[in-house]
Amino acid sequence: MLTPVTDPDGAPFWRYAAQGELRVQACADCGEPRFPPRPCCPHCQSFDSEWLRTSGQGRVWSWVVPHPPLLPDYAEQSPYNVVVVELAEHPRIRLVGNVVAEPGAPLGSLSPDRIRIGARVRFVYDERSGLPQWVLERP
Ligand code: ZN
Repeated sequence: MLTPVTDPDGAPFWRYAAQGELRVQACADCGEPRFPPRPCCPHCQSFDSEWLRTSGQGRVWSWVVPHPPLLPDYAEQSPYNVVVVELAEHPRIRLVGNVVAEPGAPLGSLSPDRIRIGARVRFVYDERSGLPQWVLERP
């Protein structure tokens, strides 16, 4: 079982995700969003931050299907897709994840031939695995 590894900077991301919300860290001074979460703003060096709620919508910016050799926990779940999603409200923020057939479905539940660059996706949270996932807006 693959479980998220959290740290103090990223803990709010996981807390909001568990509530079904996709939020990104942003600078409380200049407003610039950033990902992954970190203590200091790379634009103005402020240490004040806030968490912006997003619509959870994005587009597939890139994707792959990893092939063996894979680490054992990943090999058990192969084949599956890995996508890079560009967020609708913050196009410079890109998150790595997986597109599944429906919320809570296993990693390999969506055939790779259904995935296209630019496809609209929506954030969902899988309570069973404790992981954020993506589903196609138009399956
Ligand atoms: Zn800033």
